[in-house]
Amino acid sequence: MAELLSGKSAVVTGGASGIGRAISVTFAEHGAHVTVADVTDEPRGGGRPTHVLIDEETGGGATYVECDVTDVSDLASVFEAAEEFGGVDVLVNNAGILGDESFPETTEETYQRIMDINVKGSYFGSQIATHHMQRTGGGSIINVSSELGIHGSGEHVIYSMSKGALRLLTYSLAAAVGPDIRVNAIHPGTIRTQLNVEDISLLDTETGAELKQSLPLRRFGEATEVATAALFFASDLSSYVTAASLPVDGGSVNTG
Ligand code: NDP
Repeated sequence: MAELLSGKSAVVTGGASGIGRAISVTFAEHGAHVTVADVTDEPRGGGRPTHVLIDEETGGGATYVECDVTDVSDLASVFEAAEEFGGVDVLVNNAGILGDESFPETTEETYQRIMDINVKGSYFGSQIATHHMQRTGGGSIINVSSELGIHGSGEHVIYSMSKGALRLLTYSLAAAVGPDIRVNAIHPGTIRTQLNVEDISLLDTETGAELKQSLPLRRFGEATEVATAALFFASDLSSYVTAASLPVDGGSVNTG
């Protein structure tokens, strides 16, 4: 298998679990050193921490740095740690929460928490990454938005709003930091992670079954299928792609 990220250094926020874990492993399999930035190194679905898995299974390298993306000084320390591996070529702003919301009852605290993790963390992560990338000639920033960053949802108003903000952050940032840094967004549909199993128990319900049947591909996605989209944006395969949005959603957003 050709290595697409040989010698590159990547930072993946929320890399302990789910989609971020799959992205971290895929990047390492393609030769990158991955700095996994997360509030915990324990995967939500169980198993070895991502950095240990990478060290033991891929032959690639990984480091774990404890980081709450809402804390800008935590973010800065992640990039300092990544400097040891030659700087930062790729940032994946993946850490995000769905949150527990109901529009009529949402508290200010819930609003702030979702916006801080999903938007503020990506904004300042990108700002710090830009300083590091500009010193070494450029890089690629990938924002993990959602299909709910393209269309709205009455059940997840703040989440949808936050993911829409991430989409416009992507386009605006691409204009601000080009030509050396490319910025793109991935919009996952329903992916099999603990976010859908534990947080909202969607997958095995009647609603889940109906949703699945409505999708052109008639199934939910796997985290590894989002990871390969991230690999495309991280590597030179996408050298002329910036300010782009890629749904990875089984066809949901354009047929719903
Ligand atoms: P998971 O909950 O499985 O993983 C998210 C990871 O981010 C966890 O390790 C979590 O830690 C970590 N995290 C949470 N808050 C912070 C924080 N403040 N700082 C650093 N890390 C944090 O989610 P997914 O893998 O499913 O989701 C990843 C991204 O993909 C999110 O942005 C999500 O919105 C997006 N997405 C997911 C979809 C899906 O269907 N799964 C669909 C569309 C978008 P902890 O274990 O402590 O919670």
